[in-house]
Amino acid sequence: MSTATILDGKAIADETIARVAGETAALAARGVTPGLATVLVGEDPASQAYVASKGRAAKSCGFHSEQHTLPDATREADLLALVEKLNRDPKIHGILVQLPLPKAIDAARVLEAIDPRKDVDGFHPINVGLLSIGEMARALVPCTPAGAMIMLDKACAALGTSLAGKEAVVIGRSNIVGKPMAQLLLQRHCTVTIAHSRTRTLPAVARRADVLVAAVGQPEMVRGDWVKPGAIVVDVGINRVPGEGLDAAGKPKTRLVGDVAYAEAAEVAGAITPVPGGVGRMTVAMLMANTLEAARRAAG
Ligand code: NAD
Repeated sequence: MSTATILDGKAIADETIARVAGETAALAARGVTPGLATVLVGEDPASQAYVASKGRAAKSCGFHSEQHTLPDATREADLLALVEKLNRDPKIHGILVQLPLPKAIDAARVLEAIDPRKDVDGFHPINVGLLSIGEMARALVPCTPAGAMIMLDKACAALGTSLAGKEAVVIGRSNIVGKPMAQLLLQRHCTVTIAHSRTRTLPAVARRADVLVAAVGQPEMVRGDWVKPGAIVVDVGINRVPGEGLDAAGKPKTRLVGDVAYAEAAEVAGAITPVPGGVGRMTVAMLMANTLEAARRAAG
């Protein structure tokens, strides 16, 4: 039977949201209400659901929240004009442009147009640079890796250990998860390896890890025998795979799995995040934390 500590993303996210709501009330008493603007271009159902959940979380934190919904055929110049308007709006402290954007729009140009101080996704090159030089008082950090770090701290507290000196392996080198995750682990004094699609003998590399982070997008790729006994395993992957039977509408059911074969890995790990109910729950909570932080900095 598994003895791994299961890291409950919902509970940790709820705790984070409650902290943000409490600190928002204190800031509001000083006359500053954090403001989050979300921008959605097109009608992708997954993006609509993400933006709606971000708006709900902003309201539950006591933020001023506004959603800008633009048609799929929006011109890049019009989107840039909206970003500029939000950059100048003193009610708005955080701007989130939901990705992916329609193909006709240059996403990098749009993300770079956001005022870095309002870039609550942490994707602007200025924030990437601030993170990499450790200027954490000025950086805004991407939400998913920031949430994963909070879960790692909970794991360390549960296991009575700390991150300093640990071997950390991050599988995946994307700009939104893998690379910033590696930077955050490095700042916490881990010895960090970034593995990726060209890494040789990946299972052996993974087995070195005291802290193993999977951010790949390959269902259950990381097997139980890739995990060092007692390791902390953080599964960032969210993959939809065929389930069993049919749903109420007669369509084949699907289910979500991570990049880690959870049941196998939980037999070996010291602590592990499940999917669903793990890191995914933290992303929206950290977006709220970033918006509060941006508002605080703007208020001096
Ligand atoms: P991505 O596709 O941008 O990057 C995937 C990375 O994995 C790449 O760097 C690639 O080199 C590496 N990779 C691909 N195949 C590999 C293989 N066979 N072996 C080793 N490495 C391999 O993906 P991403 O945006 O970083 O997302 C990764 C996963 O995390 C996805 O499942 C995504 O859905 C999930 N995700 C979750 C959240 C959240 O929790 N809210 C946020 C972002 C991404």
